[in-house]
Amino acid sequence: MTFETVHVGLVGREYDVLIGPDLIATAGARIADMLTVKKVAIVTDENVAGLHLATLQASLDAAGVAHSALTLPAGESTKRWPEFTKTVEWLLEQKVERNGLVIALGGGVIGDLVGFAASVLRRGVRFVQIPTSLLAQVDSSVGGKTGINTDQGKNLVGAFHQPSLVLADTSILSTLTERDFLAGYGEVVKYGLLGDAAFFDWLEVNAPKMAAGDMDARVYAVKRSVEMKAEIVMRDETEQGDRALLNLGHTFCHALEKATGYSDRLLHGEGVAIGCALAFELSSRMGLCSQEDPSRVRAHLREMGMKTDVTDIPGDLPDAEALLTLMGQDKKVLDGKLRFILARGIGQAFVTSDVPREAVLSVLNDALRG
Ligand code: NAD
Repeated sequence: MTFETVHVGLVGREYDVLIGPDLIATAGARIADMLTVKKVAIVTDENVAGLHLATLQASLDAAGVAHSALTLPAGESTKRWPEFTKTVEWLLEQKVERNGLVIALGGGVIGDLVGFAASVLRRGVRFVQIPTSLLAQVDSSVGGKTGINTDQGKNLVGAFHQPSLVLADTSILSTLTERDFLAGYGEVVKYGLLGDAAFFDWLEVNAPKMAAGDMDARVYAVKRSVEMKAEIVMRDETEQGDRALLNLGHTFCHALEKATGYSDRLLHGEGVAIGCALAFELSSRMGLCSQEDPSRVRAHLREMGMKTDVTDIPGDLPDAEALLTLMGQDKKVLDGKLRFILARGIGQAFVTSDVPREAVLSVLNDALRG
């Protein structure tokens, strides 16, 4: 099977996203073409290193590219200052020069951390994203947002730094746990919900076989998601307007993630899925979309075996008022006003600050009651 290409045409910072099976095994030759000095530094995490680093290293060897690798612990807690400084110092030790190249091999955590490290190293070096989770393939590896978490919240420190190439190898999704795969699917479904009703229709029919491993379905779902992300990023690279649409479900998600301490109780993509269902519920109650829309969203998430409702999150949650306060700490708050992504129907999302506090509270109260 060949691969698909999505071009991200940002003038002066353009790059291709290649999507298809076995791209890691052929990465070496592609990367060699980008280098004057044939050497790269790879940063990955423990889980991915055990499963896929050797394949990447073999393909670099075959292409005559020297390489070294830093393996960090897996998980969200790696996206913090200590691992960031460790990565930057290590890259300097590897003598990555101004025209050198860094490879981020991993999920969104590694992509965000390494992209940020590449953005500040010698005031910016190139990096290649090899996203290994579904979430990273359809979302975090494309668009140039990089960063880390701090005690004040998620993704509060970072930079816009576009990769030079993205290799989304759809074969390696097979080694993801079912939970991580489905969490990534939360971001896939988001694209249909925010801007492409026909894609949501397609997902309702085809997503179960995609989850079961059908490669054509995987390639199509990743490609369509990346196309949508690329289109939005090209219109609004630094989120002055339309890019906020990509945050459908995220205002709710970030409050729930904060309430659960960014722990294993709720993965980011799971929070996005629940957040999308809540955003449609809010839209319906505000009379923006039909009552059938939130039911259809929830039915699809349920069919996929995903967390769908707030009550699917294990353990206690704070009350609705407290969750609303946590939303207010979201960095997507502009001028102190909460910004929501709501929808006039499936595939018709829009950005608004015009949401009555009471409407949000009533949705949250009902959601917490189950
Ligand atoms: P992650 O990087 O922690 O990966 C999830 C888990 O899957 C980890 O344990 C990882 O080791 C494992 N894994 C990854 N690939 C694997 C594979 N092929 N086989 C087996 N295990 C594998 O998390 P994630 O869900 O990929 O990404 C979440 C992060 O992405 C969050 O920090 C979020 O803020 C960020 N994000 C960033 C953007 C952006 O635009 N930059 C967008 C969305 C999300």
